[in-house]
Amino acid sequence: MNEKIPAISPLVDQFSRTISYLRLSLTDRCNLRCSYCMPGIPGETESATGTVKTGIFLAHGDLLSYEELLRVVRLAVSMGMNKLRLTGGEPLVRKGILTFIHQLSLLDGLEQVRLTTNGVLLADYAERLYAGGIRHINVSLDTMQPEKFKKITGYDYFAKVWQGLQVAKEIGFRIKLNVVAMKGVNDDEFQDFGRLALNEPFQVRFIEFMPVGSQNSWQKNQFIRADEIKSRIAELGVLTPFHKEHGEGPARMFDLHSVDKRKGAVGFISPISHHFCDQCNRLRLTSEGKLRACLLNDSETDLKSLLRGGASDQDIIDSIRQTILNKPQGHTLQDDLTVTEHRSCGGRMSRIGG
Ligand code: SAM
Ligand code: SF4
Repeated sequence: MNEKIPAISPLVDQFSRTISYLRLSLTDRCNLRCSYCMPGIPGETESATGTVKTGIFLAHGDLLSYEELLRVVRLAVSMGMNKLRLTGGEPLVRKGILTFIHQLSLLDGLEQVRLTTNGVLLADYAERLYAGGIRHINVSLDTMQPEKFKKITGYDYFAKVWQGLQVAKEIGFRIKLNVVAMKGVNDDEFQDFGRLALNEPFQVRFIEFMPVGSQNSWQKNQFIRADEIKSRIAELGVLTPFHKEHGEGPARMFDLHSVDKRKGAVGFISPISHHFCDQCNRLRLTSEGKLRACLLNDSETDLKSLLRGGASDQDIIDSIRQTILNKPQGHTLQDDLTVTEHRSCGGRMSRIGG
């Protein structure tokens, strides 16, 4: 343990941030190949946003088993963490996820389990996810044009995602849409997404395109600052900031009031142009069992080796505690986009979970 730091709470880091939120990447596999996230696999074609290099997935045995994941979550909850997000890769492609969600629902102290999905399998799963206690889902959708969807993701699944959104809406989920903003790819649709927020009960959140990993298609000339996106949305009506509950995520959220008196919610997630590191409350467990304190910093703790090496519960707790203490103050990606010269995050987004 770091002796300089008084242990106010096992979850408070050196910069007085309380880490209450754990994100689990359940798998690095996915049923889409978004070029900004997932490298292609041999024989696959390039996509519209650029060339993607080849890569392979983790072997099944390299993923943490559900038993191992449950153990980590149980211990994290015993330390005071209360919010969990299941992500990936695509979490819904991992077999057994519904049973896992049921087991999570039995953990005392775990207040919320949320899910981030690409929506392809949502129509099939929505009812069972709701029955398992999930109430909030984030769905990633970067375009509402089926042809472009195919170009970005490699698959002609726009209709499936749209159907998933409609089914989830009918069931009563609270739905956020994640839109990765890419100049020359989907910037012509920002206002369409703003109108969607006015017409549907979806919070639409625009995310700055991040140069995560060495294998995505990030290019400096595709980057758009959140402020620029915001000013385009402001042409649709009046934006008023709204208060979020603590820990409600990094987006700067706004009500959008249109001239014809409709109201929607939009948000802007700006990891590059406005760091929100001072409010960061999260830890990530990668699909290969590494605990990661910052999305954009490659320092990781190998929990899998501990879990498989006979570590006691206290050893795991100490390791989580140490990772929290070592959480960096912030990341170094800058708005001047020097990141083109060095992509400072080597891990793949699909392993880290976004
Ligand atoms: N497959 C699920 C999905 O797409 O929602 C969950 C995993 S995905 C890695 C989690 C989030 O990371 C998605 O909202 C995705 O858009 C976002 N993401 C992936 N690569 C990104 C990048 N280079 N820049 C910004 N966001 C990215
Ligand atoms: Fe799959 Fe999500 Fe990555 Fe797209 S963003 S490739 S859907 S993991």
